[in-house]
Amino acid sequence: MTDALKQINKDIVPITEWLPAGRGGAEPLPWVIAGPCSAESAEQMLATARGLANSPHVKAFRAGIWKPRTRPNSFEGIGAEGLDWLTRVKAETGLPTATEVANKHHVELCLEHGVDILWIGARTTVSPFSVQEIADALRGSDVPVFVKNPINPELALWLGAIERLHAVGVRKLGAIHRGFSSYGETQFRNDPNWRIPIELKRLLPDLPLICDPSHITGSRQLIEPVSQMAMDLGIQGLIIESHIDPDHALSDAKQQVTPEELCRMLERLKVRNAGITDREVKRKIAQFRAEISQVDVKIIQNLAERMRWVDEIGRLKHEHNIPVLQIERWENLLGDHIARGLKAGLDAEFIKALFELIHTQAVKRQL
Ligand code: PEP
Ligand code: MN
Repeated sequence: MTDALKQINKDIVPITEWLPAGRGGAEPLPWVIAGPCSAESAEQMLATARGLANSPHVKAFRAGIWKPRTRPNSFEGIGAEGLDWLTRVKAETGLPTATEVANKHHVELCLEHGVDILWIGARTTVSPFSVQEIADALRGSDVPVFVKNPINPELALWLGAIERLHAVGVRKLGAIHRGFSSYGETQFRNDPNWRIPIELKRLLPDLPLICDPSHITGSRQLIEPVSQMAMDLGIQGLIIESHIDPDHALSDAKQQVTPEELCRMLERLKVRNAGITDREVKRKIAQFRAEISQVDVKIIQNLAERMRWVDEIGRLKHEHNIPVLQIERWENLLGDHIARGLKAGLDAEFIKALFELIHTQAVKRQL
């Protein structure tokens, strides 16, 4: 770790000092920031917040006031009017409030309205000019700030934003992992690429890091497994989008869940690392898991590629009236793979079972 990073790490105020366990007595993990993607109306905000306040895990209420939409002509946020609704949510439920700021004007309005926690969005973290403008506006204030990872998988931009905030005196700092965009259809809206948040954690071990499964997955069915994955990697905080009527949300409808669903889901999540107190062991386990997940992704990609060739050969056999199954070829292939597997230290039975499964699927696709 460089001396500059060491200094940041040393200066960071523990999250428990500005987002206390508070409600619910002893720290019930995981702890969560929840609320709608966008503030839409006072009623929507209050009803959502009332539902969320039922969970002892929910520590703060989020709502986007200004929305950075990828394309124009979509709902771009209610604007400053929504700040008063955040104040009402806090007065009624006691939940600290959080919103996204993208420029100096947003920061000033949030400070005037007493918003408790700010975050810099993924589309802003990529722009050093914007981050610097926000940092300058924050100079002298005591408000905690989370930095979301940039949309592209670049750790330096993420670190750079944290450094700019630290340089103006922000000490209540945190990071949000919301995944990274990629081209084309993928399982997730934003690829989690766990290596990057893990590397951030290695460089700044005392920086509070929370996960945003809503923007990683883009779909409500996947929020729970990805939240659990975050817990398994030792990330104990989550920021999750919740809407009183998700299907009619004005932004990110597919990824929002009702407060009731969210409260139930939070009860099911297991914080696994409670027993591991050694930070180095924790870090290594997380790193190895990330490596394993990356290999699994490659296995899936290779299987898909294998099946594409199978489809090609299937078409050719069909055109030339060749039978799908040639037992001799299959026997040779299995023998070769078992030998290769043994050489690589793999169990013969395992290789046999694996390729039987693959071969059965290949034959099925050609029939
Ligand atoms: C959000 O949290 O509502 C948001 C816009 O997220 P991101 O910056 O991660 O896209
Ligand atoms: Mn959103």
